[in-house]
Amino acid sequence: MSVIEQPLADYDVEQVRRDFPILSTTVRGKRLAFLDTAASSQRPACVIEAIVHYETHLHANVHRGVYELSQKATDAFEAARERVRVFLNARSTREVVFTRGTTESINLVAQSWGRSLQPGDEILISWMEHHANIVPWQMACERSGAVLRVIPIDRRGELDLAAFHRLLSPKTRLVAITQVSNSLGTIVPIAEIIAAARRNGSLVLVDGAQAVAHQRIDVQALDCDFYAFSSHKLYGPTGMGVLWARESVLAGMPPWQGGGDMIRTVSFEKTTYNELPYRFEAGTPNISGAVGLAAAIDYLESLDIDKVHAHEQSLLRYTTEALRAIPGLQIIGEAADKAGVISFTLEQVHPHDLGTILDSEGVAVRAGHHCAMPVMDFFGVPATARASFGCYTNREDVDQLIGALHRALEVFG
Ligand code: PLP
Repeated sequence: MSVIEQPLADYDVEQVRRDFPILSTTVRGKRLAFLDTAASSQRPACVIEAIVHYETHLHANVHRGVYELSQKATDAFEAARERVRVFLNARSTREVVFTRGTTESINLVAQSWGRSLQPGDEILISWMEHHANIVPWQMACERSGAVLRVIPIDRRGELDLAAFHRLLSPKTRLVAITQVSNSLGTIVPIAEIIAAARRNGSLVLVDGAQAVAHQRIDVQALDCDFYAFSSHKLYGPTGMGVLWARESVLAGMPPWQGGGDMIRTVSFEKTTYNELPYRFEAGTPNISGAVGLAAAIDYLESLDIDKVHAHEQSLLRYTTEALRAIPGLQIIGEAADKAGVISFTLEQVHPHDLGTILDSEGVAVRAGHHCAMPVMDFFGVPATARASFGCYTNREDVDQLIGALHRALEVFG
């Protein structure tokens, strides 16, 4: 018989929950059990306040103004870039490009660096990628004649590393890989993948959307070439994200969107481009988004990411055990190394119906294909329900989910 472990003594999740105003609201008259952090995390009061402070006291357009307010806005925006640099342990702020999110970061690479692709070149992705790390590469391959190759997965939801090593070839220009699968929760051994790709002379893009708020990230230690993430999965605002790129690679990439801020000089005969990273930031940026992201990073680091990670791992074990005890429930994705993301199906209940019943019990989970249709096809399911955790998730949330699943069994059983 397994022993249910105790919550971690040195992590006060109830204190953390008080930082998130939305968690004390009710839905359908029930306590909110928010278990959809993988789709978008909630924001702590300090992030909301940082944005309100910026909008109330500092806002003007950045980079172009000589007046004081514009300089203050520019300082806040550039301070946020420096905050991201420190967070990622990047060498220079020239490597930190602000984008709208992971999706735009990957599209930037696919459309800019992707212009160097030649017919017959290969891009290697995995079977468990989010559509954001599939479709931009398909589009780049269509444009260039390059070929998309896919690393298979097994029934546990783990990457077939032997197949990866076989697929890596002199034609592989780039390996674009998720660090954590949003549909299966699998933590991918990216250190091994990056090392092999570098030995092979291939570049590596890491999709960090599901990893960045749950484990420490050091781009120099990782030694990848691109790292993409979204602010809204890291307790920050939506419409904001980051592409970190190794400076030597970024410097050789052509601009992708044209407009203000990305230029140095413009005439009808010729335009010259701005220095890094501004060359990749056309138009007025999301200034308050950057300020909010910096506040979110401050917040996450104040909790200690290692403690958040340990807390989420403890919840993962607790939840997995509780779910396994439910008749007819199947967990999809049982990799040895998993993040706080659990996909499951319940016999005879379509995940969408399940999502609706859980909602009536105040439980917010995602039901669908999670923008990972190839994963659904692989497991032969149209969709799954997915519970995912953040720094504020507690056992009461999980217990409410389990109770609601029993209710679903009564309704459909
Ligand atoms: N990659 C992964 C692994 C994701 O989970 C997501 C979002 O769920 C994305 C990319 C896309 O992120 P966004 O919609 O913030 O651009």
